Amino acid sequence: LLQLFRPLDLLGFVYRTIRQGLIDMAAMFRLIDAEMEVEDAPGAPALNIARPGIIFENVHFGYDEDRTILHGLDFEIAAGETVALVGPSGAGKSTIARLLFRFYDPAAGRILIDGQDIAQVTQESLRAAIGIVPQDSVLFNDTIGYNIGYGRANAEQDDIREAARGAAILPFIEALPEGFDTQVGERGLKLSGGEKQRVAIARTLLKDPPIVILDEATSALDSRTEQEILATLNRVARGRTTLAIAHRLSTIADADRILVLENGRLAEQGRHAQLLRRDGLYAEMWARQQAERTEDARPA
Ligand code: ADP
Ligand code: MG
Repeated sequence: LLQLFRPLDLLGFVYRTIRQGLIDMAAMFRLIDAEMEVEDAPGAPALNIARPGIIFENVHFGYDEDRTILHGLDFEIAAGETVALVGPSGAGKSTIARLLFRFYDPAAGRILIDGQDIAQVTQESLRAAIGIVPQDSVLFNDTIGYNIGYGRANAEQDDIREAARGAAILPFIEALPEGFDTQVGERGLKLSGGEKQRVAIARTLLKDPPIVILDEATSALDSRTEQEILATLNRVARGRTTLAIAHRLSTIADADRILVLENGRLAEQGRHAQLLRRDGLYAEMWARQQAERTEDARPA
């Protein structure tokens, strides 16, 4: 079937899929270099991170010229801080993550990491500094060990084991007859949503980036699996600068700070308790989700 696609159409399709899913695939980027919309500035230096603080400075952006998605965003995430980003569907949350990973450049304004404009450093160094755990993790049709290890060149077997342990998937893997050599993906063992998330988390632990983006990393999971994964994600966030995009507000209530995005503008920000007292959009979203939970808990 793939032969029916012209190669460039296929690459375009793969690239758009990756971009939408925020899958971090350095190898794939090299393959599809020709399709990139952003380019390194001539002689661009590598990003040099001592303290991985993030600043969005009056950032404007739209996918198409006639429709602006982000309307002059200003916010900061201090080095080591965990900031949650919430807001209605379509508000622009994933777009912010895509800009931070430089899949696109802002139409106006700047994004700085440790004081350096990310448009002025090499994309390779930028992407090496950021780990993403997406909503739906995609696995390669290869071994589970490969799927964990590809995030870092020359990963040693011991490092892969440690990452699996950190992501709380080591006992699962060790119980498989072929262990880390077990084939997964379409032609191998099918993993559940929670198991795939753990593989993505293990990948990120192995990559050990100073900055982590969690884009609705638990929204596809049932609430028990979600609770288990959240504990693991909290470990991933520790000691790193973390942007946690969340649909279920209960998962981010203890974030250092919560940014509430509405129609590409920052509507509110603060800690959970402050935002509840403010009685605005966040409080409204919280009340609605609490009501839905009660509905779900009621016997049918
Ligand atoms: P959120 O993550 O908050 O749900 P997104 O950042 O994904 O929202 O999307 C914000 C807006 O941008 C939405 O209106 C969406 O339809 C639009 N959008 C997202 N991706 C694209 C794209 N590749 N091309 C055009 N519009 C897009
Ligand atoms: Mg999104």
